[in-house]
Amino acid sequence: MRFDLITVFPDFFRGPLDYGVVARARARGLIEVETHDLRAYTHDRHQTTDDRPYGGGEGMVMKIEPIYACLERLLGAAEREKRAAASTRVVLLSAQGRVFHQALAREWAGLERLVLIAGRYEGVDERVAEYLADEELSIGDFVLSGGELAAALVLDAVARLIPGVLGDPQSAINESFAAAAGGEASGALDYPHYTRPPQFQGMAVPEILLEGNHAVIREWRLNKAREKTRRLRPDLMRLGRFYF
Ligand code: SAM
Repeated sequence: MRFDLITVFPDFFRGPLDYGVVARARARGLIEVETHDLRAYTHDRHQTTDDRPYGGGEGMVMKIEPIYACLERLLGAAEREKRAAASTRVVLLSAQGRVFHQALAREWAGLERLVLIAGRYEGVDERVAEYLADEELSIGDFVLSGGELAAALVLDAVARLIPGVLGDPQSAINESFAAAAGGEASGALDYPHYTRPPQFQGMAVPEILLEGNHAVIREWRLNKAREKTRRLRPDLMRLGRFYF
């Protein structure tokens, strides 16, 4: 799968994409990531990507032209067909979009290409959301100073669900919110994990995990996942994403 990141700060992505699962997936050719500097799609001496808002008000607004030019270059005629067939998706990161969640990450892991546009300043000329992007996507009900962090987060969540990316495919099944994949706790939070030492400064690992009875451990984990979900995320139950 290919990810295209459209930004005014291409270097921003160096850290997040150079570690762990995402870095390994890139090295193994399971995902391809290209960053695109919007300044390269400007035509003035100052490489202007933002301007004052019509109607007045504070701050600057990202201009439509560089974003349009970048998308035109990325999505040629063949890509337009794929987009129509929904195997390519163009997403504008925005606090106003639908809120990202695991089921969407799982759905997008089946795409051929995901184009993520990161905004800055007061936001992006609304015509980008209206005419150029397939949708606006938020990573939560708070306002970030830019869409790059949000784009990196979406890329990470999607990439790890692409077949072959995680060393053990079971990892993506037995984890929080894994209802769609039929995980053990089906949409609940993950069960608690422990490792050695069994005792640390008076804090003990639950005895049951040390006894090695796998049927009992499985039941215990299921119950703990339910209990933790009820305690920490009762909203998951109210939303009906919780199947037991
Ligand atoms: N004026 C905008 C508003 O009130 O909705 C906020 C603009 S924000 C300072 C600048 C950029 O950060 C946005 O264009 C968007 O790309 C990104 N951003 C901010 N919050 C976000 C969120 N919750 N999810 C995704 N992107 C976000």
